[in-house]
Amino acid sequence: MKKLFLVPLIAFAVWGTACKPKQQVETNLKTLDLANLDTTADLKQNFYQYACGGWMAAHPLTGEYSRYGAFDKLGEDNQEQLKSLIEGLAANVKKAKGEARQIGLLFNIAMDSAKRNQQGITPIEEELNEIRGIENRGQVFDLLVKMHLETGNPFFAFYVASDPDNSKANLFQLYQAGTGLPDRDYYLESGHKAIFDAYKAHVQRMFQLCGNTEEEAIAKTRQVIDIETALAKLQYDRVSLRDPHKNYNRMTVEELCQAIPEFDWKAYTKAISPDFEVKELSAGQIDFMKGMAKVYANADLDALKAYFEWNLINGAASCLSDELTEANFDFYGKVMSGQTEMKPRWKRCVSAVNGMLGEAVGKMYVEKYFPASAKERISKLVENIRLTMGERMAANTWMSDETKAKGQAKLDAILVKVGYPDKWRDYSSLEIKDDSYWANVKRHSRFETEDMLSKLGKPVDRDEWQMSPQTVNAYYNPTTNEICFPAAILQPPFFYPNGDDAINYGGIGVVIAHELTHGFDDKGRLYDKDGNLNDWWNEQDAKNFEARAQLLVDHFDRIEVFPGLMANGSLTLGENIADNGGLNISFAALQKALQEKPEGNIDGFTPAQRFFLSYATLWASNIRDEEIQRLTMLDVHSLGKWRVNGTLPHVDAFFEAFGITENDPMWLAPEKRAHIW
Ligand SMILES: [Zn+2]
Repeated sequence: MKKLFLVPLIAFAVWGTACKPKQQVETNLKTLDLANLDTTADLKQNFYQYACGGWMAAHPLTGEYSRYGAFDKLGEDNQEQLKSLIEGLAANVKKAKGEARQIGLLFNIAMDSAKRNQQGITPIEEELNEIRGIENRGQVFDLLVKMHLETGNPFFAFYVASDPDNSKANLFQLYQAGTGLPDRDYYLESGHKAIFDAYKAHVQRMFQLCGNTEEEAIAKTRQVIDIETALAKLQYDRVSLRDPHKNYNRMTVEELCQAIPEFDWKAYTKAISPDFEVKELSAGQIDFMKGMAKVYANADLDALKAYFEWNLINGAASCLSDELTEANFDFYGKVMSGQTEMKPRWKRCVSAVNGMLGEAVGKMYVEKYFPASAKERISKLVENIRLTMGERMAANTWMSDETKAKGQAKLDAILVKVGYPDKWRDYSSLEIKDDSYWANVKRHSRFETEDMLSKLGKPVDRDEWQMSPQTVNAYYNPTTNEICFPAAILQPPFFYPNGDDAINYGGIGVVIAHELTHGFDDKGRLYDKDGNLNDWWNEQDAKNFEARAQLLVDHFDRIEVFPGLMANGSLTLGENIADNGGLNISFAALQKALQEKPEGNIDGFTPAQRFFLSYATLWASNIRDEEIQRLTMLDVHSLGKWRVNGTLPHVDAFFEAFGITENDPMWLAPEKRAHIW
């Protein structure tokens, strides 16, 4: 399940679970839950603690979580709902047909741990033997292609997606890959030595569990680490990966062969896509590809075999016996994230079915749980917020009329998706059968790859969804210029059907404005209204934008998230701009709504105060030290605490709402505040 499917989305959060509507008395106006607050805290000193302290005390971390927040709580509730749906299908699988049968059967296979334990490593034995039996470089090449089609991404990865220079067309694209740790820094920075050492021990342990002697495992581990470290040195860092220009290198396959002669790109693209001749592609991180091809060409046969063997074992581990699944968790769960226990089997299996048959499960989910009325209300809210964003853009003092007109055209062109797709995916060619869990995972991976390759030569389908409806998240896609709000996020605490406007604008309103803002963040602004990488800014306006954005970079760079560890203002800039715009735009939209339908104080809080408290509640969470460190390195989103205490001090209305002045720790001097959208 390690195969990457790369789509250049900008999601609202790193979470990927889903939620259910809470039971509520619809007749009562829903407002802030006062139990979430910690009124003993001084909000002028630590607003996050004041707004979320009650919630955090009531929801301590359990072993299976490295972080548990308001999102995860919804995810928990939702998983129960998906469980009952999926278990119902699983119990009647003999009579079922079509997708109902696929879902039920896959769940039963995933849950059958007795069979998995009895099978041991048998499900990967044939592939292991194939790798161990390799005798020449031709076989190495064939294996690389096979793995890229179905089991993983040794050395590098490919995907098919919109061409950033011609967004209506699909393009074959390369991407850096090839390492078992999720960032180059783990291999290269001495500060991560403990995790790197634990990884080495883990690789050796897994080799031994898969039939190697200790001596063989030690030798193979050394070979794997050598190759992975060489690749890590070549990988672009995460800040560079956010720069669309640096990562887009379109050329013909011929040109790539000339630029990087150590690898046969022509034979590769032909083997990957036999039905459609790939003539042009983006080489992605071109310098990585150059170095990678040398590593590939210069590695000796035994080292390559060890490396492929590790890729296979690592990709399959969580689909095999309990022994291998637990060993895999010991490293990726315990060491990397600080979790102390695995999620119960049913949760893992519900997630797997949900991940592999997302829209099939999603279709049933929305039929049962998503009220049609919500779609209409949210669509209307999106239009209100879009209007407000346009008004604010027109009124700002730092852009020329010329650039504003193009910005407005882009804003008008944003496609909005709410709830669930009009057209569902067809899973009928995906075969689910009771051979082994791993065999099903592999067939699914192949199914996804073939589906992606089938897009070559066809125009980009703007109706496709990049998240399933049962996902608690939202996204902006720059190449299609679309925003998407799946059904599962259109529920409390984001959206209360009977909620007061202040808390809904502080919740789903901010999410909507956040996604709209992504079209105009440091990365999104580089794409035009048609989704092409095409500079529509005049020079002075671009400079003004960058100066304003720099205030956020500087501010977040100064935040110490853990003793000795600073936040990364450049890595999180796009998200911080989106949170900043999200708050300012939605707050302005609330003021308009209040003019039409005034709201007074509730529980002693003004509408403005309820707006900011509602926003903060979305980020209530407890988190382990390991997870703080991991996410600070990997995640383009700031940590929950800093999406509140780091972001709010840039919003003028926040200070006014709570009477925070220059004598208070939450205060930020006006000249240091970022005013962008
Ligand atoms: Zn975002």
